[in-house]
Amino acid sequence: MNPLRLLRLITRTGRFAEPTPPAPEPAPGVTLPRALRGSVQVRHVDCGSCNGCEIEIGAAFGGVYDAERYGARLVASPRHADVLAVTGVVTHNMVEPLLRTVEATPRPRVIVAIGDCASDCGMFAGAYGVAGAVSDIVDVDLTVPGCPPRPDDIIDALRRVSGR
Ligand code: SF4
Repeated sequence: MNPLRLLRLITRTGRFAEPTPPAPEPAPGVTLPRALRGSVQVRHVDCGSCNGCEIEIGAAFGGVYDAERYGARLVASPRHADVLAVTGVVTHNMVEPLLRTVEATPRPRVIVAIGDCASDCGMFAGAYGVAGAVSDIVDVDLTVPGCPPRPDDIIDALRRVSGR
């Protein structure tokens, strides 16, 4: 597209992101690393999700909810990440990949369990393919409840880490 036409379109459309909600209160009893304040790189790890949580993560980073304005950015490798956003129950096949992903993420790091499945196995509790919730396998710093969680709640957790 012609850059001038694109510029005109941007000017005409204006801003359509949701208004910025107030910054979240610090989570009681949770100490998050101060070194990550300002900017956090997020690696998503799907350990056995139905894909509902992924749709909401996609919305959180889309133009309307715009998580990047709070200093959160999705990255492609755990080696570049500060935060692991883990979705789904942990299936038996994903135990080892999850442990290896956590090990590959530099410290300080924050692990966020996103959705009811990641938090406490949700509707899949006791299913034959399930090894457990994320906290049964690795230490979890923050949980975002909901099936699926709202993009606002996902962003809220990331803002607690970035402090923005
Ligand atoms: S919490 Fe709900 S939406 Fe998310 S993976 Fe589980 S069943 Fe799917």
